Amino acid sequence: MNGQTKKLMWGLGISDKDAEVIRHAAGDQFALTCFPVGITPSVDQLEADKPCLLWISKQGWDAFKALPASATAHIDVASRILIMGGDYDLAELESLLECGFAEIIKPPITEDRAREVLLSAVETQNLYQDIVHMTREICMERELLERKNDVLSFLVSFLEKVTQHLDPAEILRAAQSELATLLPVSAINAICWPPQSSENVHATIYVASNNKNDTTYTWTEKLKSHAEQLLGNGVVSIDMNYMGSTATNIEPEPEKLLAVNLEYGGSKFGVVMVQCSDHPQLGKDQIQVLQSAISHLTLGLNNAMLYTAAQHNADFDGLTKLYNRRHFDTRLLEENTRHRRYGHSLCLLIADIDNFKKINDTYGHLAGDAVLRDLGRILEQSLRTSDYIARFGGEEFAVLLPCTSISHATTLAERIRAQIQEHAFATDKGILNTTASIGVACIDLSKDESPVEIIRRADAALYRAKREGKNQVTVLYPTSSLLLAEGYAT
Ligand code: GH3
Ligand code: MG
Ligand code: MG
Repeated sequence: MNGQTKKLMWGLGISDKDAEVIRHAAGDQFALTCFPVGITPSVDQLEADKPCLLWISKQGWDAFKALPASATAHIDVASRILIMGGDYDLAELESLLECGFAEIIKPPITEDRAREVLLSAVETQNLYQDIVHMTREICMERELLERKNDVLSFLVSFLEKVTQHLDPAEILRAAQSELATLLPVSAINAICWPPQSSENVHATIYVASNNKNDTTYTWTEKLKSHAEQLLGNGVVSIDMNYMGSTATNIEPEPEKLLAVNLEYGGSKFGVVMVQCSDHPQLGKDQIQVLQSAISHLTLGLNNAMLYTAAQHNADFDGLTKLYNRRHFDTRLLEENTRHRRYGHSLCLLIADIDNFKKINDTYGHLAGDAVLRDLGRILEQSLRTSDYIARFGGEEFAVLLPCTSISHATTLAERIRAQIQEHAFATDKGILNTTASIGVACIDLSKDESPVEIIRRADAALYRAKREGKNQVTVLYPTSSLLLAEGYAT
């Protein structure tokens, strides 16, 4: 056994004879360094040696006590053995035991007694080491649990935040602020489309910006090309959603960008791009947390996109992709109220394809459907974006013209009628031609009438156009009683 592995003991103020007995009893595994009475070991010595056992005489103890408390704390764990000669009373003995002495030996020390004391001290020391070790393990375990608890709290809060909205923009905003506790996120941009759409994909791009600018254009292109790669075929149409952000001009930086494909139940429905302000240096644990957070985000966005699609289906006509009658009724109510409040004129056109039944009967319903779709496009192209177009019924279309005079509305209707007449409708049975009749009406600002009245008037005007030979525009002014006089009965 070499000296380095020996356990160190100190003798403080003990006699040479006692020291000799102790050395002998301790054997090879221990070394004893003695400090005579009057010589107190330095703090540095104490720290270097870290003795496991102190053999102390009464005089040695008095000197040792003089050391600063901070220094003696280093050897608090060392077993102290007091070698106490002379007479002493019980009270003195008790007060010494309170000073942390494990044993008290009366000189002369015998080898057996020294060995017995040494073994018991070593045992105590081992026990102490075990307790220290266990305490350390408990602390580590507690830290681990606290970390797991933090992760769990983060994920629970993240899940709650990203599933409490049905608007994808709100979800992305919530995800950004939550993820910021994990990553230096500066922006989250995304492209999403309704889950399960395979062709004619209508996507929405969500950018963390307040308006259209060069940066948002770069993001749009990036997101679009990623979506095209995912879908294999092109994205048919794109809506922009400027989600707004305090930092509006964050350029994509590929090396600080995390792109995550959105996939749920085997259906891909978008891409989320998380832009970081710094290189995200993530450990294995954080990557796992991020993956869980992303799957929560996917769940939230999937729900939101399904809801958006359901809402879209409730408002739009599947064949023409125009607003449906249900949506028209709500819009008419709103526009009627708004125009009356400001005293502005609101006009309505109802266009009805002439002899449409014949098209169906002659060329089949598919050809009829193609004509309806084409007619929807003609209306969209001939009108301003502020004008509102809906499929009113089978082969009838309604157009609301905000802040438009009835004469202007009539001119517009005439232009549309002419366009329909000129148009070559492409169908599976070849090119077809058709015409339409259009009834024009406006709200009566002089009367507080229900919005249904404008429909009634536009319908009556249409009825007259049909009666008078079709392919024409007819107006019914609010004050006119002409049609009633002519026998139009509602
Ligand atoms: P008029 O000139 O008087 O308007 O006569 P019309 O034949 O156009 O009008 P009618 O009301 O007699 O016929 C309308 C037809 O439109 C009957 C219906 O089957 C057809 N139709 C309604 N919805 C659709 C649709 O979605 N697709 C097709 N192909 N036909 C439709
Ligand atoms: Mg009709
Ligand atoms: Mg018709």
